[in-house]
Amino acid sequence: MAGRTVKVSGPLIVAENMADCRLYDVVRVSSLGLIGEIIELRGDKASIQVYEETSGLGPGEEVVSTGEPLSAELAPGLITGIFDGIQRPLTTLYFTYGSRISRGVSVNRLDRERVWHFTPRAMAGDEVEEGDILGVVQETEIVEHRIMVPHGVRGTVKEIAEGDFNIEETVAVIATEQGDRPVAMLQKWPVRKGRPYREKLSPETPMVTGQRVIDTLFPIARGGVAAVPGPFGSGKTVVQHQLAKWADADIIVYVGCGERGNEMTDVLNEFPALKDPKTGEPLMKRTVLIANTSDMPVAAREASIYTGITIAEYFRDMGYNVAIMADSTSRWAEALREMSGRLEEMPGDEGYPAYLASRLAEFYERAGIVRLLGSGERTGSVSAIGAVSPPGGDLSEPVSQATLRIVKVFWGLSASLAYKRHFPAIDWLISYSLYADKMKDWYDENVGKGFLRYRQFVMTTLQEEAALDEIVRLVGMDALSSRDRLVMETAKMIREDYLHQNAFHEVDTYTSMHKQLLMLRLIYEFYRLSEEAVRAYVALDDILASPFKERIGRAKYIPETELSEFDAIFDEMNAQIKALEQGGREDE
Ligand code: ADP
Repeated sequence: MAGRTVKVSGPLIVAENMADCRLYDVVRVSSLGLIGEIIELRGDKASIQVYEETSGLGPGEEVVSTGEPLSAELAPGLITGIFDGIQRPLTTLYFTYGSRISRGVSVNRLDRERVWHFTPRAMAGDEVEEGDILGVVQETEIVEHRIMVPHGVRGTVKEIAEGDFNIEETVAVIATEQGDRPVAMLQKWPVRKGRPYREKLSPETPMVTGQRVIDTLFPIARGGVAAVPGPFGSGKTVVQHQLAKWADADIIVYVGCGERGNEMTDVLNEFPALKDPKTGEPLMKRTVLIANTSDMPVAAREASIYTGITIAEYFRDMGYNVAIMADSTSRWAEALREMSGRLEEMPGDEGYPAYLASRLAEFYERAGIVRLLGSGERTGSVSAIGAVSPPGGDLSEPVSQATLRIVKVFWGLSASLAYKRHFPAIDWLISYSLYADKMKDWYDENVGKGFLRYRQFVMTTLQEEAALDEIVRLVGMDALSSRDRLVMETAKMIREDYLHQNAFHEVDTYTSMHKQLLMLRLIYEFYRLSEEAVRAYVALDDILASPFKERIGRAKYIPETELSEFDAIFDEMNAQIKALEQGGREDE
């Protein structure tokens, strides 16, 4: 029995005679077969958000429920894929139907023809349960796709064989209490529901990114959540590319919601051009891209972040560390606002629906580091980085505010730093990370005991600089004591020689934690030795004019293989400062 449309309002359709349907079921609308999803049910009336252009539709069109919720298809073929918000492959659609996707086009979301070589990891006779790994497929040069026992299945492996299969063919048969259960590589999962795990763990290990301002000052944990606002030209794209390339994650899921068509086109052009520095392969070989171009209806944008996080969770369940980037969540929230307006819901702050904050939280809560289902002890993680793009850069607007209440890391990109060409333009005075304290043990054990002390030193010095800046502005540099001037000089060194990092320099683009420690130690020792010397009446200008100073400035370009050079710089600095002290004493 089919429903009939009674109202069409842009991406929202109201249909009656829908009493048999369930909330969030996917429906097909009109003879075109447009894809939609029931987002509200009242009596026998359903409000449906349609993921495709609805122009030309009117009342009386047929609406048929598929009886299934909006689901992601999970199988080999995801990696390197470029999908739209409801996981239709953009590449296939673009190639087959041109840049404007024809409506109602039914394409398989993952390729059914392609065969993959399946290598069993379980044997006939093995007891298995949901989440256990049955076998693997080398999906790309970089990614091993692990085929898991589907949810709700437990039993004994009856048949399993190595061979070439497409994703719908049976690769194993599991004898369960309910009878034999054939398992194919293809699994489905409703996107609005988080995939289950055994237990959420506390995020205590950083996701190292090689970006000094992040790793040292505002680290994100594995399984953590971060937000980054992106005023235009502030270097947001570069930050995201750097994270995608260098962050210590196995899989990258990038969800792009562009406001203008060309923004997404940029992503679609740029991302596939990125190289994975660890393997030299294209970064796409461990990436899934989800793109909403501006010519796609807003509803698809609303769905896209759920599709993205579901795919991220799926790879997490294989035991991987996944990083998902959503750019931008503001565009996503606008889609939510538009749908809410059409539903004639009571508007909240600035027209956003009252449930904006809870929807955002639902998304970020699906990040985390977890103990996985299955018989072994395994963990996996999803780290989420959401960009917000508040109009006019004003963080007091509802989406930014709701985001800031949820995330534990905030990288505040600043237009003024970018203007001064200080990159990455992450403003140390407004950014924060609430993970740093929890990860103390990790730093002590893996980087070195001094690291957190140096970090504190850097923070304090930068804050002192901000305070001294005020004084200088009022009464001029001359009013400062030698010690204050030293603080200013040290802060400058921290900014220019440490925090400033050139993404396009072969060496500077990535800094290991060990090198970060060595660089910090050098700056800290500069401060300590200089302070002693200044107290012994050495002129600060003489210290600043010493040759070692330039070597500190160039320390960031020291390759990871030549880190012993740091000792040499330290010795030189020590000798030169001590010589000045000596000279001072001889003059007396
Ligand atoms: P947005 O995406 O915020 O508009 P981009 O990320 O495209 O800005 O950055 C703008 C420009 O700033 C880049 O083209 C680049 O020249 C410069 N830039 C940004 N970040 C860095 C960096 N880490 N190192 C060097 N240059 C950078």
